[in-house]
Amino acid sequence: MIENIFSWSKSTDEKFRDCARKYYYDKYLSWGGWESGASARTRSAYVLKNLKNRWAWRGERVHHVIEHVLKSLRQGRAVPLEEALSHLTRIMREDYLASKAKKYLENPKRNLGLFEHEYEKNIEDPVWKRVHEGAVECVQNFYRSDFFKELSEEDKAHWLLIEDLEAFTFDGAKIYVKLDFARRKNDAIEIIDWKTGKNENAAPSVQIGAYAIYAMQKWQVPLEGVRAYLFNLASPFPVPTLQILTPALIEATQNTMAESIGRMRSLLADPAKNIPKSADHFPFTEKPELCAQCNFYKICEKYCKS
Ligand code: SF4
Repeated sequence: MIENIFSWSKSTDEKFRDCARKYYYDKYLSWGGWESGASARTRSAYVLKNLKNRWAWRGERVHHVIEHVLKSLRQGRAVPLEEALSHLTRIMREDYLASKAKKYLENPKRNLGLFEHEYEKNIEDPVWKRVHEGAVECVQNFYRSDFFKELSEEDKAHWLLIEDLEAFTFDGAKIYVKLDFARRKNDAIEIIDWKTGKNENAAPSVQIGAYAIYAMQKWQVPLEGVRAYLFNLASPFPVPTLQILTPALIEATQNTMAESIGRMRSLLADPAKNIPKSADHFPFTEKPELCAQCNFYKICEKYCKS
């Protein structure tokens, strides 16, 4: 039996900050929704939790293809651009058709469910086409970059992580981080975060701070021994953009995590067993504009009494 342990990640924190009720549906109501004996409401929450909107889908598929390309390189095989693009197109087509046929209702882990299909948004074909084209451009941009050339030519023995889900402990909680790419270079640990959106060049964030904390613990290096970069794949000529890591950023990240974990724990009836208080302790968002984009809209008690 899998245990629902308390954990924290940047994406969990974002859900919690958006709407505590959304966090409750995602972390607690959906738990066990994969089991055949799950209640209809738990099953619904589990299905909805796994939906992705078209932008998240695009990003996830670009990450997947780059992961495939880099893991192949590490094994000594260079994947030609045409092969990477046909792989991308094939999986996106399969995803799209499976989602349209609502196969995710039977198995949401195996089959992608698109938010737009579940909520019957009237998205025209050219919009879907543009989503695919955007993903293609990201992969093309990656191949065109000097950084990809550098990765192709360097010694892969120094590569540390490619899209690995890792964890560390902070304040007694398991903190999950998924590093897109990490390597050892010039006596430092380099972490690269692929970005696929046009506006993703934000200032160094809690996410980068969490990566740095993880790297310091994992590889036993001081902060000066960690370098973090954003790599905006939507740019036609992407380059790694150095993120300034300072003790102040690490402290701010730790404060953010501690504050967020404390607020989440305050909503637990039994913190040791990660058992939540009743749903009404998890307030609805005060920004109703978020609801139209929320995976859980159709089961949310703010809109339907069930
Ligand atoms: S529909 Fe709105 S209030 Fe309900 S869970 Fe989603 S964001 Fe929160």
